[in-house]
Amino acid sequence: MPKRAPTVGLVSLGCPKALVDSERILSQLRSEGYQFAPDYDGADVVIVNTCGFLDSARTESLEAIGEAVRENGRVIVTGCMGHDEAAIKNAHPKVLAITGPHQYEAVVEAVHDAVPPVHDPFTDLVPPEGLRLTPRHYAYLKISEGCSNRCSFCIIPQLRGDLASRPAASVLSEAERLVAAGVRELLVISQDTSAYGVDLKYETSTWRGRDVAARFKDLAEELGSLGVWVRLHYVYPYPHVDHVIPLMAEGKILPYLDIPLQHASPRVLKEMRRPANQVKMLDRLSAWRDICPDIAVRSTFIVGFPGETDEEFEFLLDWLKEARLERIGCFQYEPVDGAPANAIAGHIPDDVKQERWHRFMQVQSTISTEIMQHKVGREIDVIIDAIDVDEAVGRSVWDAPEIDGNVFLPDCADLEPGSIVRAEVLGAEDYDLIARPV
Ligand code: SF4
Repeated sequence: MPKRAPTVGLVSLGCPKALVDSERILSQLRSEGYQFAPDYDGADVVIVNTCGFLDSARTESLEAIGEAVRENGRVIVTGCMGHDEAAIKNAHPKVLAITGPHQYEAVVEAVHDAVPPVHDPFTDLVPPEGLRLTPRHYAYLKISEGCSNRCSFCIIPQLRGDLASRPAASVLSEAERLVAAGVRELLVISQDTSAYGVDLKYETSTWRGRDVAARFKDLAEELGSLGVWVRLHYVYPYPHVDHVIPLMAEGKILPYLDIPLQHASPRVLKEMRRPANQVKMLDRLSAWRDICPDIAVRSTFIVGFPGETDEEFEFLLDWLKEARLERIGCFQYEPVDGAPANAIAGHIPDDVKQERWHRFMQVQSTISTEIMQHKVGREIDVIIDAIDVDEAVGRSVWDAPEIDGNVFLPDCADLEPGSIVRAEVLGAEDYDLIARPV
């Protein structure tokens, strides 16, 4: 009788980038014969992949570690918060091992130490695309690690280091494997997607017998040739981003650009150490819409940044009304341990941050409702994510999973998750659409 395969539990916190790290760890462990447990009881050891970006994320991470220690007792911590070993050890001295972000080998070694692998030729089999935590029809594709920017509110470069891009052939081969495994939508992610390849000096690598440069536009174009939806996330608005807009107009990649702008006031942007010219940003938005009228620009903003005056906040609201971005996320500023922004004078009281956040969301809700109403009567493509009782729930090309809106198709329980259907928009809500297949 073969020995029972050791079993690992995983708690994955944080952003899609952390999720990709979890997928890599799981893929490696699965290839070594480990099984996975859906609950604490069934696991020989539990990995907690933490997020350490904001204080609230650190608190959540410490709580998740505490729960795993209580419920299982054998816990390995990894991810961004692993950077702060002392804080974890202080709170949870019984943790078996602590590793930082991207230390895949160290995590796997810690698992080996806790529960050694048992060789079994059947459990060694892993599908060629690796193991994923997303539904079968969409996948995150991480094209680089780290970031060479130094935004004052962020400690990601301290945690993850400077930009380190993957060669184009490596990214494209992974994308091909994902598509072969049934993925219909690739979500391109990194900390700074449009800086892709700068560190490699745009070095070429061979894919399908051709040299492909590690360059943002080239990669987007090649991904667009795979015949699936390609969605670009975390795009910093460098001038060369303009070059991907025609690819959207031609239907090669989705007309969707996720650009975290964070603010509009030049002074606040300077304090944030972001490029300050949001006036030019309005011109660029308008030029992009001329080239690709259907483009949806998603962005995130921070309100209540230290020193943000009432006038600067009003400036942001006015900018928002003019920009009319299709999709928006808004965060109240939270100090992050180790971030230079902590030293900026004039921290904003919580009630003021809260009030600004509400006003910001009200303005955006009005803009979004108007934009969504304009879609009524149009025929659009919808990717089906799930069936909920008798209703199909999907997304348009303007909606990324988890963060944007949905398209609801009543009485469509027969549609297959992962299929892309043509549908007529019958109605609209603040952020969602109602449609029926045509
Ligand atoms: S670009 Fe993003 S990851 Fe890089 S420092 Fe700025 S906020 Fe952090």
